[in-house]
Order: sequence, then structure tokens, then C-alpha cells
Amino acid sequence: MADKELLTALLRLRAPWYISRIDVDVTSEEAHVTIDHHPGKLPCATCGKACLVEDHSDERVIRHLDMWQAKTFLHVAMPRTRCPEHGVLRVALPFAEPGSRFSMAFEERTIATILACQTVQGASDLLRISWDEARGIMERAVVRGLGRREADIVAYLGVDEKAIRKGHRYVTILTDLEGRRILEVTPDRTEASLVIALKTMNQAQIAGVSAVSMDMWEPYRQAIDEAFPAPVPAVVHDRFHIVAHANKALNDVRKDEVRSLAQEGRQDLKGLRQALLFGEENLPERHEASISALKASDLRTAKGYALKENLRRCWDHRLERTARKHFLSWIRWAKRSGLRPFQKVGSMIADRLDDIVSYFTHPITNGPQEGMNSKLMSVIRAGRGYRHHETFRMAALFFLGGLDMTPRHRHG
Ligand SMILES: [Zn+2]
Repeated sequence: MADKELLTALLRLRAPWYISRIDVDVTSEEAHVTIDHHPGKLPCATCGKACLVEDHSDERVIRHLDMWQAKTFLHVAMPRTRCPEHGVLRVALPFAEPGSRFSMAFEERTIATILACQTVQGASDLLRISWDEARGIMERAVVRGLGRREADIVAYLGVDEKAIRKGHRYVTILTDLEGRRILEVTPDRTEASLVIALKTMNQAQIAGVSAVSMDMWEPYRQAIDEAFPAPVPAVVHDRFHIVAHANKALNDVRKDEVRSLAQEGRQDLKGLRQALLFGEENLPERHEASISALKASDLRTAKGYALKENLRRCWDHRLERTARKHFLSWIRWAKRSGLRPFQKVGSMIADRLDDIVSYFTHPITNGPQEGMNSKLMSVIRAGRGYRHHETFRMAALFFLGGLDMTPRHRHG
């Protein structure tokens, strides 16, 4: 019958495979297509050598792309071959991976639909599969993609922690800063969290890393020494995290001073909290008058503001040598300032200075990582069932891993 030939061609089936039967149930809107093979030897699934068929062990039912409005299933009585070398094995089907209840074409469509929808539920509804089935296809896609990623060299790594579920649980996220993709997600934010993430890279990849961008978080710093053989790659403490420490110090100075001024009945610092967070070159017009007034005062907050703004300028240098001088003079200034929060930031910078001025050799920041983190959070918010770490990791790699996840068809 012509329709069998048509579907055989569309499924790209080649001898010895052919479609032997098509049943369409109009009421349930299901199509059932039976696939058979001509008599003769079939290739061993392991070595490909033509072998005698031992038996037909069981029937595999494989969901394929819809035939018009009908859900379509392929039925195959699975032949097993007897290979002199590999024994009795089920044959490899040209249109479905072993163990999957979906054809490669259906898996490919599912992957594309989930990526386009950005929600698993939305895609599952469109494809008429369950959430668990969608998750199974995603898991297999991620495993496939990770297998193909092994040859990639990543020069610049980013490491960051992220609080998920309202700050009650942390994960460590390892990223490829240039490729803007998530490489690994591990539970918690300990030294082991990062070591485990780095151990997923092979030897060539480990050797190919030039520098790692991270916050000043001691466990992560130690993980670099632990996971890399000497000489370890450069660590670059992220400039935005460092400036954030100065912003926090400034806010602490302001809060303290607001309290002491209030005791004298003064309100000099009223409404400044937001204004202080801006870099001076980005200050909105509405805050200009209050910042000018602050700078003209002899308040401790004014001194803190000057320190914060001056620290930001340390990254404007072109050479490590001049930048280092600038940082050292800033540290001395912070220590003399009499402002405890800034003295603390000064000591922290003094302790890590080498890993801060490494920026002038490797000008990387966690900026691209922040972008990926916020995309990840929106994917996670849109989904559900990411409570378990393994599922969370799988979703992160599926949506933001930049993986090549498509099943490859075997023809001929
Ligand atoms: Zn064999």
C-alpha cells in the first residue's frame, strides 16, 4: 500500500526495516505503526557485524512525531542477535536510542519546544507528554550534551554562589565566562562544592584554564589550590564584589552616623541611602544636590563616600604596577580613616591584593555570570519540581549549559 511506502520514506527507514502495518484509531486519535525487518542477518549492536537473529524478545513501543492530530506510536518486536564476540544483544534501532520510549525525532522536537517555551509544563502540554516524560528527555539530552562537551577548552572560568529558595539553600555555579554558559552546579558553597565542580573537567580542560573570576570567599580560593596542579591558574577577585563590600561599609558608616546625629536632633543624612549607591558618574540629577551637600560637609559619611568612589577608580589604570600603587595608597587611607567598616575592607584588600591586581593581566569579571544567574533564576521560577538538587542541576545545564543535545540519527 502506498501509505506504507510514504511513511517508510518519511521515517527514512532502509532495508532490512520496513513498515508492515498501520492502524489508525479515529476515536482515540492514535496511530499505531508496526515496523518489521526482512529475514536475514542483522548487525550486532556493539560491533556492527552481521549476525544471526536469535529471537524477538519483546515489543518496544516508541512515541514518534504526531501524524496530523493523531498521537503516533511505532511498534517493533525487538530482534536479538547472537554475536560470536558479544553474545545475545538487542539490535540498535536506526530511529530511537536504546532504552528511550521516544524516537530521536520526537526527542529533538521536545528539546526545541522546551527551550522555546522556557517552561517544562508549557512544552509538555503542547507535546501531550507528562512532566516526568519531559524530564526524562531533558536528562538524556543533558547527558548527551555533556559527553560532547569534553573536547572544549575554557580559558576563563567564573565561580559564584547563589542562594535559591529564599536564601535557605546555596549552590555553587561554575561558568564559562567567554562562552556565557553554565558548566556545572553543585550543592552548597564550600571548598568541596567547587572542587567537585572542577573535577568534572578533564585533564586537558584543567590545563587549559588561564584564570578564574570569583568573590573573595576563602573556601573557593582554597578549592583552586586543591583542584589544580601547580602552577594554578590566576585568581581574579571580581571587582564588582569588591566595590559591593565598600558600598556595604559606606552604608554601615551612614547608619551609625544617622543614629548619632539623631541624638543631636539633626537630620543631615536623610534620604541619602539610595544616592550613595550610585557611582558618581552615573548619579541621577535628583540626587545631585544632596551629594554635593554631603561632599561639602565634614561628616564621616562624606569621608566614606570619598573612599568608596576612590576605590572604584583603582580599576581605571592600564598597568598592574600603577594600579597596585593606587590600591596600596587606598589601603593606607582606609586604615587612617577611623571608619571601622572601611578599615576592614582595607585589610581584606591588603590580604588579597595579588588576586585583585591579576585583573590587569586577565581583565575578567563575574558580569557575564550575573547575567546567567538571573536567567537561571527566571527559568527556575517558571518551573516547578526543582526542589531536588539533581533536578535543579539538570535544568540549569539544559537551559543555560550551551550544550549540543540533539540525538544523532543513524542512517544506512
Ligand atoms: Zn558484536
